[in-house]
Amino acid sequence: MRLGLGAAILLLVFGCAPPPTTPPTLYQVSTFRAIADGIFEGMISIGSLKTRGDFGVGTLNGLDGELIVFGGIAYQASIDGSVNVVPDSALTPFAAVTFFTPQRTLAFEGQADCPRLFERVDRELATRNIFTAVQVDGSFPALTVRSVPKQSPPYPPLATVIANQTVFNLQDQVGTLVGIWTPDYLSTVNSPGWHFHYLASDRRTTGHVLDCQFGGGVVKIAELPSFTVDLPETEAFRVADLSR
Ligand SMILES: [Zn+2]
Repeated sequence: MRLGLGAAILLLVFGCAPPPTTPPTLYQVSTFRAIADGIFEGMISIGSLKTRGDFGVGTLNGLDGELIVFGGIAYQASIDGSVNVVPDSALTPFAAVTFFTPQRTLAFEGQADCPRLFERVDRELATRNIFTAVQVDGSFPALTVRSVPKQSPPYPPLATVIANQTVFNLQDQVGTLVGIWTPDYLSTVNSPGWHFHYLASDRRTTGHVLDCQFGGGVVKIAELPSFTVDLPETEAFRVADLSR
């Protein structure tokens, strides 16, 4: 009885110890090389993904539209332009998320098109060699986003699907860009450069950003010096030639 009590006290003492501090981390499902080669079979549930991050981008099983995770909720940009909250049971074949804690917040004033906006954010990056998460809240007088149609096996390469993407030209938007910066040297792990998805404040429109007019707003930046990748255990991934 005494031993049991002692063990319980020890457990209590060590159980209350603070967890070891971990650096801000990007958690990723699969790799860009694999998704580019048509490895679209979902492997991680959205419920599980949300335990690894509350902010990020990706896609759903069979490349079923664009995925945006924001504020701990997963949204799907479906091919008809509607926004759906994704159930925890849905699977993703490719996603990159983090628990977003901005290290810097900057006010961007004045109009700029998307390339200029991204150049301006580029200049604020202290390094181009670390994954970085960026949130842009603001107005967008014009915004071009896309989604992709769900595929069935045998899956085609990503480029073939994108050739059939559906493009939406939006106007007078207020919302958020959720973005991940991938360094060039990690170009097989994730798409190098910027990858932005948009989510309207009213949650009525979302999608992968192709172009925009930015009307000003706030940019929040978080460097992610650590990353974790879960590789697919599917047969398609195991036998794929990803050496190119
Ligand atoms: Zn995307």
